[in-house]
Amino acid sequence: MCDFCRKHAEKYGKWYLNPKGYSEELFYKLTLLDRILNRRPLREREMWKYSDAAWYPLPISKTLGLVDLAAKPLIGGLVRVIGNVIAVREHAGQVVPLEDAYRIVELSEKQALFPCMCKRLFKGDDEYKCLNFTPAPDFAEKHPRGWRVKWLEREEAKEKLEEFSEKGYVHAVFWWYGLPQVICVCNCDVRYCYAARPRLWYGIRKAYVKAEYVAEVDQDRCSGDIPRCGNCVARCQFGAITLTSKGASVDTYKCFGCGQCRFGCEEDAVRLVDRNTHPIAKGLW
Ligand code: SF4
Ligand code: SF4
Repeated sequence: MCDFCRKHAEKYGKWYLNPKGYSEELFYKLTLLDRILNRRPLREREMWKYSDAAWYPLPISKTLGLVDLAAKPLIGGLVRVIGNVIAVREHAGQVVPLEDAYRIVELSEKQALFPCMCKRLFKGDDEYKCLNFTPAPDFAEKHPRGWRVKWLEREEAKEKLEEFSEKGYVHAVFWWYGLPQVICVCNCDVRYCYAARPRLWYGIRKAYVKAEYVAEVDQDRCSGDIPRCGNCVARCQFGAITLTSKGASVDTYKCFGCGQCRFGCEEDAVRLVDRNTHPIAKGLW
């Protein structure tokens, strides 16, 4: 069980399946100071501040500038410690497979797609693939210049998740005011993801935590009529699955448990197992 589940899952198994994480009560608790001071909640103020053309690239660039320091030899360790603390308190995510993303949508009250801000920054285009839950879309719509969000019915949201999965995007559940408040399921191309990059490049682990699962390959099935087809390899954004003379093989240390490799396999040879009971992966978050 990851640290987050240990603290916040209660009887629900995983922190993001705890209905409390979607409740107004929790939101009011997390924004108590703002209400005492009679001002808009912090994230809404941030949206107001940065919701013009430069609204997101500006703070995100500053963040990445700081994150870059994690690569420096002497201060890197300290920056990683601070980065991990900030990630847990502020806004970071955990990888989830498609099945858990569906369960998250079931728990959320209202759903809306935002353009992926990371991709806007790094690639310069808008792709509506960040599935947000109340209150983020409400904040966005209140803004005088108005953010364009696309409201979805629950079933439409699930269809969108399936569509993103077909494209090979990694689903990740994000918190916003700190755990266990759930704010969105992002559908990530990790090359552009400002949560995944600090993790993959600089080891800021809690910016993008591995899933509660890890992949395993059934070698007997893999070496069937289409041995070493490599479809699973092509779908892994983390370089965690490779082909060997015996078939596909998962590097347990690299695997984030996203489950995308499964969807490329016509032999049904890849499955996700519980990370918590895996002899090696249980210590790798
Ligand atoms: S091996 Fe499969 S489950 Fe693991 S990170 Fe790669 S695609 Fe995701
Ligand atoms: S997609 Fe399936 S059959 Fe093909 S290499 Fe991967 S595990 Fe083996």
